Amino acid sequence: MEQYKISFDEIKELLVEQKYHEEDIEELEKAFEFAKKLHAGQYRVSEEPYIIHPMEVVKILIGLRADKHTLMAGFLHDILEDTDTKPEDILELFGEDVLNLVQGVTKLGKLQFKSTEERQAENFRRMFIAMASDVRIIFLKLADRLHNMRTLNYMAPAKQQRIAQETLDIFAPLANRLGVGKIKAELEDLSLKYLHPDKYYEIAQLVSQKKAEREITVKFLIDSISKDVKASGINATITGRAKHYYSIYKKMNRLNVAFHDLYDITAVRVIVNTEKECYEVLGLIHSRFKPIPGRFKDYIAMPKGNMYQSLHTSVIGPRQKPLEVQIRTWEMHEIAEYGVAAHWRYKEKGSEKADSANDVKFSWMRKLVEYNKDTKDAADYVDSVKLDLFSDQVFAFTPTGDVIDLPQGATPVDFAYRIHSDVGHKTVGALINGRIAQLDTKLKNGDIVEIMTSKVAAPRLDWLHFVVTKQAASRIRTWYKKNKREDHINIGKANLEHELTKAIFDDYVKDGEFEKVAKQMNYVSADDLFAALGYGETTLNKIINRLKKPPKQEQESVHQHKPRKASEKDIVGLEGLLYSFARCCSPIPGEPIVGVVTRSKGVTVHRLDCKTLENIPVERLMDIQWSGNNVNKTYSTTIRIETGERLGMLKDVIGVVSDNNTNINSANVKSKGKVGIIELGIELDNIDTLRRVMTALQAMPDVLSVKRIQTSFNAAPQQFTKKNKQKQPKKSTH
Ligand code: MN
Repeated sequence: MEQYKISFDEIKELLVEQKYHEEDIEELEKAFEFAKKLHAGQYRVSEEPYIIHPMEVVKILIGLRADKHTLMAGFLHDILEDTDTKPEDILELFGEDVLNLVQGVTKLGKLQFKSTEERQAENFRRMFIAMASDVRIIFLKLADRLHNMRTLNYMAPAKQQRIAQETLDIFAPLANRLGVGKIKAELEDLSLKYLHPDKYYEIAQLVSQKKAEREITVKFLIDSISKDVKASGINATITGRAKHYYSIYKKMNRLNVAFHDLYDITAVRVIVNTEKECYEVLGLIHSRFKPIPGRFKDYIAMPKGNMYQSLHTSVIGPRQKPLEVQIRTWEMHEIAEYGVAAHWRYKEKGSEKADSANDVKFSWMRKLVEYNKDTKDAADYVDSVKLDLFSDQVFAFTPTGDVIDLPQGATPVDFAYRIHSDVGHKTVGALINGRIAQLDTKLKNGDIVEIMTSKVAAPRLDWLHFVVTKQAASRIRTWYKKNKREDHINIGKANLEHELTKAIFDDYVKDGEFEKVAKQMNYVSADDLFAALGYGETTLNKIINRLKKPPKQEQESVHQHKPRKASEKDIVGLEGLLYSFARCCSPIPGEPIVGVVTRSKGVTVHRLDCKTLENIPVERLMDIQWSGNNVNKTYSTTIRIETGERLGMLKDVIGVVSDNNTNINSANVKSKGKVGIIELGIELDNIDTLRRVMTALQAMPDVLSVKRIQTSFNAAPQQFTKKNKQKQPKKSTH
């Protein structure tokens, strides 16, 4: 096996060459040694020691003249993923900024792009930028990908194809976005090599064959204009080069021509000192060679979205062949090659002290966005970096890797409706990154969202309280209008009856008062008005305020009962979530509770002191509270009363319980020696009522003890039902 020389010397040389400060170089060596120790014994597929990879990544970053922290992160970029290192270790040794960079690049590394659709690729790229809180993370990722592409030949062919395609779809355009022409070109050429090897080698061969021809062309151009250039006092550097392979390949495809017919694979570049000289040189070239109409582009006056500036023209060159010429200043050249990274390069070369990290982060973005505003070319605008503009967007994945872009604050329900209305309507729950989540959870960039649906499910009105997309809101409303008209008419009527009393409601109906109000509120009929109230489009107050005043003596009864609304929430922390109450402990409003996340049945609500919690791992517990909105709802529990033997005891007990606003579901009586045991399944509204009931029972003569118990007798309980017994409301969301 080849001997690998793993030492910092080579990197140090580069650093010195690029004029990094001595103290910085020392710190970098520390990061290098740390990474080297951690990766010791690890090898890449190429059988190289693993540390070679981060070293090469750092070299690429030095080429971009990245700042010290980015280089340190370059050495450390794979240690969170591939070694046992903890974030705290990095924090302690190298500080918060370096840790953020390493964590950022680790996070991006976990994203896998699967779709082949261009729109999806675009979404993915935008998400990438949005997720990288700091643009330096994208540079780290680009350098990482570039070295992986350079060593792709060691991978299995299928993997080569996938990685090359991903590079072409995602990473090369990202490099272009950030204006790093140098990396973009290399990524594209390497991708071509694996995706279309035959074309790649054909182009490579022909480009090298035409080398001599290219040199003659450049020499001819130099000879033709150098005298004029000198006479104008301009100091110009003229170079000729083949365009990069991928751009030749694209051109062949676009024009559908064979390579032999493709003349202008050569580009001549003229670099001068000032912007004014760019235009002067352009004039000189156009006076010597015939320009090809329609090929002149002034990217100086109108820079591309990625800050690229140059003059482009094509002229009829030697032997009547078209020749492309680019004219730019040295500064424009730096920006064309290094994009936003040119900022580092320029700053560091000057006498100014290195920027603060914040300045580095934001000044580029600001500059990019400023350029965007000036760009009038629509295509360029669309293609441009919109870093700032992404802050109001969230990008989330489907489990199959499609990226869904949503506004900030969007929830799984918005996500579901974005996929399809039917998915939205049938939603019963959601997994975010594999964990069950509330339907009103705000999605974050990169979340993988799996919507759980049920054929029998229907949308819920309370979703309207948290959805943020207009699409979701209108689909939910439309569904309700269409599917539940009768129900909503009845709900609307019932709400009004409750609020007004039945007698007054009937009077209004007789008088045609609701028809009048309906017209005022732009509904066709009274039924439409009731339905609108039923599905929450309008409110009781809006309707009642429009009704003529009811007879005065009836007013008192108006606020006796609040109608139960579909949107009423029992528990804070479970909004929109599928949940049920645990049978083992039957929690009642007012007492401390905790949620237990289950994979298939949503969340189960237990009493905080329930014994079954002992065996449940902490990460499955959810912090929840009663909301205080549980008026009129009933909750079940069981109490055990031990009594002395006395005739009529049961009847008295039931009497006391019933007097305290409590329904009895079941009763079970047995005796144990001289002690009678009565177990009652009861329904009540909150813990205060339960306490009152228990105190009242305790106060009865011959009652020995009153206890709340977790389960009832196994024997079939004797049923007691009361006429006005309320049904236990279904706690599942559907
Ligand atoms: Mn890596």
